[in-house]
Amino acid sequence: MLERARCLDVGDPLKEFRERFDVPEGVIYLDGNSLGCLPKATPERLEQVVREEWGRDLIRSWNSAGWIDLSSKIGTKIAPLIGARADEVIACDSTSINLFKLISAALAMRPGRKVVLSEPGNFPTDLYMIEGLERQGLTERRLAPREALADALDGDVALLLLTHTHYKTGELFDMAALTHAAHEAGALVLWDLSHSGGALPVDLNGCEADFAVGCGYKYFNGGPGAPAYAFVAERHLKAARQPLTGWMGHAAPFAFSDDYKAAPGVEKLLCGTPPILGLAALEVGVDLVAEIGVDRLYEKSQALSEFFRQCLSERGVVLDLVSPTDPDARGSQLSFRHDEAYAICQALIARGVIGDFRDPDILRFGFAPAYLRFEDMAEAARHLAEVLETGEWQCAEFRQRAAVT
Ligand SMILES: *Cc1c(COP(=O)(O)O)cnc(C)c1O
Repeated sequence: MLERARCLDVGDPLKEFRERFDVPEGVIYLDGNSLGCLPKATPERLEQVVREEWGRDLIRSWNSAGWIDLSSKIGTKIAPLIGARADEVIACDSTSINLFKLISAALAMRPGRKVVLSEPGNFPTDLYMIEGLERQGLTERRLAPREALADALDGDVALLLLTHTHYKTGELFDMAALTHAAHEAGALVLWDLSHSGGALPVDLNGCEADFAVGCGYKYFNGGPGAPAYAFVAERHLKAARQPLTGWMGHAAPFAFSDDYKAAPGVEKLLCGTPPILGLAALEVGVDLVAEIGVDRLYEKSQALSEFFRQCLSERGVVLDLVSPTDPDARGSQLSFRHDEAYAICQALIARGVIGDFRDPDILRFGFAPAYLRFEDMAEAARHLAEVLETGEWQCAEFRQRAAVT
């Protein structure tokens, strides 16, 4: 298996990109879907921003280094990777905050309708942000399992909010079909692309999506807590009004007027002063993804995950796969259900194979293809097989839950 893996690595068109990341020695990193690896260019870029732009040029850098436009600039770079136009995307705030802004905007655009529809088991923050608005009396949360979503789209639904690639199972929604169904019912759609952006091709405009949000620190390798991004379809840019009317979203922030007037474009999604250090790191990650291309990334991640499954099966490992078996029906991850998923995950981490655990019983492996090799798949499968065979996960040390799982 290892030999076959090495042959595949030799023929891998993305093989030179591993060098562009700082992948720690002795680690097989299968968690790039949670926190992407550090691009080697990032520390250098941050050093430059800190020492020259901040340290030497100080306040002048808002103009001279283009800080003031950095959110928009990164938005224009993310746009083609998610099927959007350059003026429809902006990098700002966190995914959670962008959800709040865009759910609110959508509700205001559908007066007389109050329901935000989602699925149970959607990423918690998506559901909680709807709940927060519900507590303020601004909406009513409705959850329907995926097979019942189309039926739940009645005349009360203002917005359908879904995560394109499910964070636990990796299952993909049919973005075009659901967007169409929502529009037929008179509702708007907001797609959470956190596990899709930078991992697989997304065609927001091809699907006629209304709104989208996504994460900067997962497949975009922007670093811990990196700014997120938000998309508003061009046809809604005029009507969409977001509630966090901070000065940076003003049409003329430096006019210092007493009254708020939203910027005409997607800049209206800005709220406060942008975090330049975070944005600078994000830009490096986005540039790398753009250089490689999302089509090539997805193709390789599918090959990696299929090869991983093959290695497991050749080692006789039988695990309950909760991700779709068809690679076209899932994002860049594989998830398995096991009662001892937590302890198994810890035992693997002790061996240098970093995947993650999702409560209550999911063992999740992400395949960020820019820096993973087929060799890593063969080795990870070997470690997993050994952990299961030896039962080493039963050690007490692997059962202690840390704060972040
Ligand atoms: C990771 C993730 C988020 C993260 O939101 P933050 O505000 O960055 O913490 C949101 N939604 C989904 C679907 C995610 O996977």
